[in-house]
Amino acid sequence: KESEAQALTAKEDADKANAAKSEFLANMSHELRTPMNSILGLSKILVAEKELDVEHRDMLNVIFMSSSSMLEIVNDILDLSKFEADGIVLEQRAFDFKKMSQDLIRTLAPLASQKGIDLKHTYKVEAWPYVVGDSARLGRILTNVISNAIKYTQQGSVQVMFDGQQFSDGEIVLSCIVEDTGIGIPEDRIEHIFEKFTQADETINRKFGGTGLGLAITKNLIELMGGEILVTSEIGKGSCFTLVIPFKTAKELDEEGEGIPHAGYQVAYEENRIPVEKARILVAEDHALNRIFVKKLLERMNVVSFDFVENGQGAVDGMKDGGYDLIFMDCHMPEKNGYEATKDIRATGSSVPIIAMTADVMEGVREKCEEAGMDAYISKTINEEILRQVMSRWMEMPDEKSAEDVCAAKDDCHEEDDASIVDLSLLDEYTDGDPEEEKKYIDVFISQSLESIEVLETHCVDGACENWMQAAHKMKGGAGLLGAEHLRVLCEQAQVMTEVTAAERKDMFKKIVAAYRDIENFLKNRA
Ligand code: ADP
Repeated sequence: KESEAQALTAKEDADKANAAKSEFLANMSHELRTPMNSILGLSKILVAEKELDVEHRDMLNVIFMSSSSMLEIVNDILDLSKFEADGIVLEQRAFDFKKMSQDLIRTLAPLASQKGIDLKHTYKVEAWPYVVGDSARLGRILTNVISNAIKYTQQGSVQVMFDGQQFSDGEIVLSCIVEDTGIGIPEDRIEHIFEKFTQADETINRKFGGTGLGLAITKNLIELMGGEILVTSEIGKGSCFTLVIPFKTAKELDEEGEGIPHAGYQVAYEENRIPVEKARILVAEDHALNRIFVKKLLERMNVVSFDFVENGQGAVDGMKDGGYDLIFMDCHMPEKNGYEATKDIRATGSSVPIIAMTADVMEGVREKCEEAGMDAYISKTINEEILRQVMSRWMEMPDEKSAEDVCAAKDDCHEEDDASIVDLSLLDEYTDGDPEEEKKYIDVFISQSLESIEVLETHCVDGACENWMQAAHKMKGGAGLLGAEHLRVLCEQAQVMTEVTAAERKDMFKKIVAAYRDIENFLKNRA
């Protein structure tokens, strides 16, 4: 009896220690995200500076890539420790599974094509109902498994098959089979690959990189969704991962099911928006690097008048003294945090728009922000686009105007289409609005595209074709830099065309040329 009691106390102590460790890890990784995001954001801004020599630009790119992969690891650890502290709550929103999975495959396709691997995907079900669940986390699961398949395959193919079985009216069981022709997993290691920090072969780590956390998180997430993951593998021949996850179905999408991720705000414009140049903005942010980052972004958006304070009390005082048109409020700050400061400001009767900035990924942040009286929240990583969109609810932003001006100046310019032909704000970003720089930039784009078009035209052939792939890849890069999304997507699709007929290539070629001509016309008319 005595030793039983001792064992019980020992177990309780161990559980407590484990919970404390998980909480520590969750807090640590959470805290790390903020400075990591500043490093990422600032290096991205620096890379876009004009006056940089090649060597410095290369160094900055390395900083950007290293910090991206570090952020990934930090995010993995955060997720994992949240599981252990039972802190993960899944979102339940209706989303379009087919669209989501297609987009995801599209983002992974370049990974495969860089290695010369064929990434194929098929849907057994043609008409997919909307499903209710956590689309971001489902994306994470699929990305982990498919990118592993690509990572551990040196030649051959990765096949992804989606199937859905509808057992009753309101339910569908999604299955996804990911089969590769890669290195395979040794039999005695196969049951361990889902453990954290575990890799099938220690020497693998050195060759392929990775932390051994991906599948642990994947399995946890799938089980939380009520599903399961199975694997079969043969060394040297390949592996096959099968994921089965049940979902409720929905008749329509949830309002916020689509839209910009990481941004919880309404996009509707308020009446009487003020021009951003006239706006007075207050930013409450305790983190020095983030202050520099936000300052840079605001300057880019033509904000002239802004002040910074380092904690919530500063914001409350600032509002009393100066009055502002908009406040960006970090949530975690010393002395007085963003929630308390917002409550204080609302208590004075002020209805100034307050936008929360938070690195918090925990469920319930949106509610906490709303409850405190904030109007919107953006989650760090903040980028220019997200900032611009959220501010545009209260302010007239610069690129909205320029797009309108361009349309007004041109008869055959139909707003919707042209807005997506090229992203003028990107062009602006690279050239700082300098017409000469802009011309140089566009000239390079045009001459590169014409070169690629020539290669594509002469390589509309049957079967796999390296030259076609290279040309499509090159053109995709140019389109991406100009924010020409339609052309970029077409080139991306062209790039992954492998075993196709000459006629199919010809069709794609025609589409690419048409998209390119649209851009050329648009740019010409702009000048
Ligand atoms: P890692 O970051 O190492 O990729 P994961 O948790 O995603 O971590 O995977 C754990 C281990 O499982 C990997 O290190 C690898 O040894 C093995 N593994 C996962 N997927 C595959 C695959 N498709 N083919 C071969 N081995 C795989």
